[in-house]
Amino acid sequence: MAEENCTHDCSSCGVTCGDRTEPQSFIEKPNELSNVKRVIAVMSGKGGVGKSLVTALSAVLMSRQGFHVGIMDADVTGPSIPKMFGISGEVRGTESGAYPISSDGGIDVMSMNLMLPHDTDPVVWRGPIISGVVKQFWSDIIWQDIDYLFIDMPPGTGDVPLTVFQSLPVDGILVVTSPQDLVSMIVKKAVNMTEMMDIPVLGIIENMSYFVCPNCGKEHHIFGESHLPSIAAQYGLSVLGHIPIDPAIAKASDDGLIETIEGHFLDGMVDVLKKMPVKKQNL
Ligand code: ADP
Repeated sequence: MAEENCTHDCSSCGVTCGDRTEPQSFIEKPNELSNVKRVIAVMSGKGGVGKSLVTALSAVLMSRQGFHVGIMDADVTGPSIPKMFGISGEVRGTESGAYPISSDGGIDVMSMNLMLPHDTDPVVWRGPIISGVVKQFWSDIIWQDIDYLFIDMPPGTGDVPLTVFQSLPVDGILVVTSPQDLVSMIVKKAVNMTEMMDIPVLGIIENMSYFVCPNCGKEHHIFGESHLPSIAAQYGLSVLGHIPIDPAIAKASDDGLIETIEGHFLDGMVDVLKKMPVKKQNL
C-alpha cells in the first residue's frame, strides 16, 4: 500500500513501498542558491596521467569562451586544482552555505585543500567519509550561475567515483588517458561504468601524446604511436584532443599559472562542450 501522504513521485521517495513505479534517485539536492547548467566529470584509470591538468585546462578554455565556470575538486585525498590556479585561503561558510574561491580569471573552485589549515595536511579518511565530503561540495557549496561545472574525479572506478556518479547529476564524462596507459582496458571500463550509470562519455583526451623538440620543431612520440584512435573507434567514441608533454605546462601548473597556458590542442573538446544542451534537473 502507498503511504498516507504519498506524492506519487517515486524517484525522490525513500519509502519501501509495494506501489513503487520508478527506482529511487540517490541524486543529492543542490544548494538552494546554486544554479548549475551542465556538470562534466573528468576521469582517468589511474593517478598521474593528467586528469587534474585536463580539468583545469578545460575550465580555462571554456572560461575564455565567455562562460562562467566552476571546478569541484573531488580528488579529495590528492587535491591539486587550487595549486594549479594559485588559489589559497580557507572557504568560509555562511548560514545558507559556503562560497567557492575564485581564481584570477573568475573560475570558482572548491577543494578539500581550501578547507585545511595547511595544504600539506594529509586527508586520511576512508571511502564513505570522502564520498560524504564530495556530496557536500554539491549540496553545501553555493555554485552561482555556473554554465559548466567540471568535477576532477578521484582516479579509477572505485567506491568514491561510483558514489559521485550516483549522487551528482553528471551530464557527461571526459576520459583522460596517456599513451603508456592500458588504454583499451581503461576505455572499456569507462564505457561499462557510463552504461551502468546512464551517463554519456563525451570523448577521450590523450595527455602526454608527443613532445615537440624545441630545437627542430619536430614531434616525437616518446611512448610510441598511440593506439587510442582505433580503440576509441571500436566503442564509437571520439578523441577530443592530444596534449603534448610540455615543460611549460608542468611549470605553469607548479607556479599556479595554469590560466596563462595557450594552445589549440583541446579545440575539439571545446566544440563538443559548447554544443552540450542544458539539462533541467541541474537548475
Ligand atoms: P592526475 O590528476 O591524473 O593525477 P595531474 O594532472 O595532477 O595528474 O598531473 C600530474 C603531474 O604531471 C603534474 O605535476 C602536472 O603538472 C604534470 N603534467 C601532466 N600533464 C603534463 C603535460 N602534458 N606536460 C607536462 N607536465 C604534465
